Amino acid sequence: MAKARTKSRRSVKPAKKKVNKKAAKMSRGAKAGKAAKSRKSTKPAKPAKPAKSAKPAPSAAASYKPLKAPKHPRIGLEAASPFEMRVNLAKDLPETDVQSALDSGDMGFLHSFTTGSTVDGPGVRVVAWTTGCQWRCRYCHNPDTWTMRNGYPVSVANATAELRKYSQGLKVMNGGLTISGGEPLMQHRFVVKVFDAAKKMGVHTTIETNGFLGERLSDDDLAKIDLVMLGVKAWGGELHKELTGRDNGPTLEFGRRLAKLKKRIWVRFVLVPNLTDDLDDVGKIAEFAASLGNVERVEVLPFHQMGRFKWHELGIRYHLEDTQPPSAELVERACAVFRAAGLEAH
Ligand code: SF4
Repeated sequence: MAKARTKSRRSVKPAKKKVNKKAAKMSRGAKAGKAAKSRKSTKPAKPAKPAKSAKPAPSAAASYKPLKAPKHPRIGLEAASPFEMRVNLAKDLPETDVQSALDSGDMGFLHSFTTGSTVDGPGVRVVAWTTGCQWRCRYCHNPDTWTMRNGYPVSVANATAELRKYSQGLKVMNGGLTISGGEPLMQHRFVVKVFDAAKKMGVHTTIETNGFLGERLSDDDLAKIDLVMLGVKAWGGELHKELTGRDNGPTLEFGRRLAKLKKRIWVRFVLVPNLTDDLDDVGKIAEFAASLGNVERVEVLPFHQMGRFKWHELGIRYHLEDTQPPSAELVERACAVFRAAGLEAH
């Protein structure tokens, strides 16, 4: 789920420089680079002993059919920010391989991953940005994540090994792993497998989703997810469809199901002047969120134009060319609507 908030970063140092050669190769950017030098440094976690489980489990290895991933020597999977434009990283993969990856979940497609985020869930986090989204939000700042094949094919084993390098630091900084996108539930089997591995390391897990495909997750799958950041884009059906191209019914239903399961939710709402700033509509979202009883926090994200260049480069018609970010006063008024419903809003 692309968000309309600029990123705040702190460094999460890998607990071990080389856990797995393939994983290290996968994230060339994880080695101290320019971006890492400019981030605020935090106390490094104690190096962790390489764990045997960093290697693929025999069962996974047995079922895992390696894909011939295209080579992109100049593109590391770790990005300085999710605003990096990425296209066609898996364009040469046969459709059968893409389908087999989605079916088994042994392989996923990532736009990139970033470390040190303090705005994508509690504490300091590693964020994996998946590709593939069936919505077309007018304010999306990462339209390059809409297409699955724009992402890089990554095995569960490699993703797990990469996460392991940061796991100690994430725990020390009360953070964890967030999987966002794109829409992560487009590749739900891969996402669940990575979350399962994270939980086994004791790492906190968060998914950021539009909730449209929430029914793909079983209750057992949801047990592997500590926090759901649920994007609620608009209340009125017509407005929602104009804004995203889809109905919001499944999202709301997913929210109700999470409430029954007492799963923690943070609601995310993007405030766009002249599009989502009708405070009556905001009030309906607030009423719904408050009725669930498990929404811990609402984040009102001001629209921005940092993704505009992607729409231009991809040749997609951009409807918000002249839209300005909301004023601080408008953001505060929207927050006040949520607070009036008894919710914590920022
Ligand atoms: S189009 Fe998809 S990735 Fe972009 S903001 Fe909407 S739900 Fe998120």
